[in-house]
Amino acid sequence: MADLRLAGVAKRFGAVQAVQDLSLDVASGEFIVLLGPSGAGKTTTLRLIAGLETPDTGEVHIGGHDVTGLAPALRDVAFVFQQYSLYPHLSVYDNLAFPLRSPRRPTPEDEVRRKVTEVAQMLRIADKLQSPATRLSGGQMQRVAIGRALVRSPALYLMDEPLSSLDAKLRNDLRLELKRIQQDLGATLVYVTHDQIEALTMATRIGVLEQGRLVQVGTPQQIYEDPVSSYVAARLGSPRINLVPRGLVAGLAGPGRAVTVGVRAEHLRLHRDSADASHRAARVKRIERLSDQHLVHVGLDDSDQELITAAPADESFAPGDVVRVELLRPLWFDAEGRRIAA
Ligand code: ATP
Repeated sequence: MADLRLAGVAKRFGAVQAVQDLSLDVASGEFIVLLGPSGAGKTTTLRLIAGLETPDTGEVHIGGHDVTGLAPALRDVAFVFQQYSLYPHLSVYDNLAFPLRSPRRPTPEDEVRRKVTEVAQMLRIADKLQSPATRLSGGQMQRVAIGRALVRSPALYLMDEPLSSLDAKLRNDLRLELKRIQQDLGATLVYVTHDQIEALTMATRIGVLEQGRLVQVGTPQQIYEDPVSSYVAARLGSPRINLVPRGLVAGLAGPGRAVTVGVRAEHLRLHRDSADASHRAARVKRIERLSDQHLVHVGLDDSDQELITAAPADESFAPGDVVRVELLRPLWFDAEGRRIAA
């Protein structure tokens, strides 16, 4: 497995700057997740790495070699797309064997058999090897599509939302399996998604994309606890971080330039009684009951602002309750949404 380096890569399509001055170093064996909403430039970044797009500026290095000018086939990367594209007339076995039988990589048939069997077991489709690809469920097809990448030992795996078309249960199962397989293989993997759960559970590091720019790279914990902006803060965390205009929590000490304060649901405490002036008066509006906690939506007095707080399930609140809200571990942001140190 190889490392990857993107150095100042940019790509424009007409009026759209899809990727801007993007630099990123991925170490061999890392599982890096590029996270961002639709249109942030995730797919374009992957296509630039694969050689399916040519950057306007910047360089792509794989395994220490500058591959910027190389055709996709010469880059030794395996790409898994969101929509699986299997050969419908071939069996699962032959679909998996296909990449190994390409003229570019002729492989002895006993080696093909060994590799296909091993990958089919890893992906738990060994009992389907003789089935035609068309007889598979969506989840099984996507496993085969991932398997076609895994039978090779490329320098780099690139995956573009490979689980997004699956139902929730399958997505959870495959998420765990993919992470396990990546660790077992020691594979270098660049994975793009807009799904924060995938990013949190699989990534060694997450890169957050905003309008073509890579705005922060760090471990899931760093991104969650120490976001560089309100945009990044809102990418991770469910429920979403509460973002409140500074003026609505005037009793809370914070930097002068701060325009917005961000507080995660688990860092809000509800008090039935409090004389502390920094605790904001509010009223319970509604409650979402989850298994281990309740999400209590409170409305701040004299404003339309609503906050979501996570309260232990044994603390009972009811709509209409008068409360005071304590904001712990506030994150401060300036007018442009940039983080300001407390
Ligand atoms: P999604 O999750 O919707 O796939 P994304 O983060 O992968 O989004 P990209 O597909 O990389 O985003 O697109 C980034 C921007 O570039 C978008 O505004 C998109 O419309 C534009 N774009 C991408 N490819 C092309 C193209 N071939 N021609 C014109 N515009 C393009």
